[in-house]
Amino acid sequence: MKEILQKIILVLFACIILVVSATVSYSLLNKKISLPSLPALSIDIPKIPWFDKNEEVLTKEKEDETKDAYQSLSDDRKKRYEVYGKLHPELDEETVKLQVNIGLDRPFYENTKEITDTASFPILVNKYNHLPENYIPNNLVLLDETHQVTAETKVAFDLLNQAAQSKGYTIGIEAAYVGFEEQKTIYAETVKQFSTEAADKRKARAGYSEHQTGCALDVYAPKENGYFEYSDTFLWLKDNGWQYGFILRYPANKTAITGYQYNPGHITYVGEDVARRMHEEGIATLEEYFAMNMKE
Ligand SMILES: [Zn+2]
Repeated sequence: MKEILQKIILVLFACIILVVSATVSYSLLNKKISLPSLPALSIDIPKIPWFDKNEEVLTKEKEDETKDAYQSLSDDRKKRYEVYGKLHPELDEETVKLQVNIGLDRPFYENTKEITDTASFPILVNKYNHLPENYIPNNLVLLDETHQVTAETKVAFDLLNQAAQSKGYTIGIEAAYVGFEEQKTIYAETVKQFSTEAADKRKARAGYSEHQTGCALDVYAPKENGYFEYSDTFLWLKDNGWQYGFILRYPANKTAITGYQYNPGHITYVGEDVARRMHEEGIATLEEYFAMNMKE
């Protein structure tokens, strides 16, 4: 009886050694550690039932995790992340989501949305989101003799202008609110002057112009010569505009996101809170700000 027990213990012990060594070999193979002597280890481990089971359990767990993460997303959005991620293996998951949320997986001016909530602020008007043709802000006021902006934009701009003047800078206004019909004319003229492709980087198609919000301004430095982007007025504005709720809407090196070439003269009133957050968090474009704060 004692002998039988001893034999059983021996057999069990041998089994344990076998299992342990098989597990170690399997995990080594799984981690793809390429040891030169490993070919000898290519035992048909995956055929052993309990390993297959483990693999199944692991796959299931992974699937469940992915499902949880995607549960709150629409099927369309999920699909877009997947497709865009496959097309851009160089991007990490977060960047893929951010870019898809901006809409960058689709060409500009395709699948565009009409903005219905025009009462919200700030409004994101770009090559994916356009204003209704008949939209006119209900609180337009004169900023100077010829230019109109919303009442809030005027209050903020006046403060910005006072601060600039106290430092010896003069901000001139080239354009402010632009209605739908005028946008049509401006765009057509720009296409005539350049090409459609070049015009699209400079001017908006009708309905897609931020100038229709009454919160956008094109400014310049009337007392300085040369390019605005090299003027002292611009350098001051670039550093201080956020304190008054203004952002540089089409910054340098962001054409892929905004669709517009660098435009140092185009500033937009987005409110002090948004401008401050963008400044503090280093968010360069309103597109990225909206995508980061998007509710799924
Ligand atoms: Zn502009």
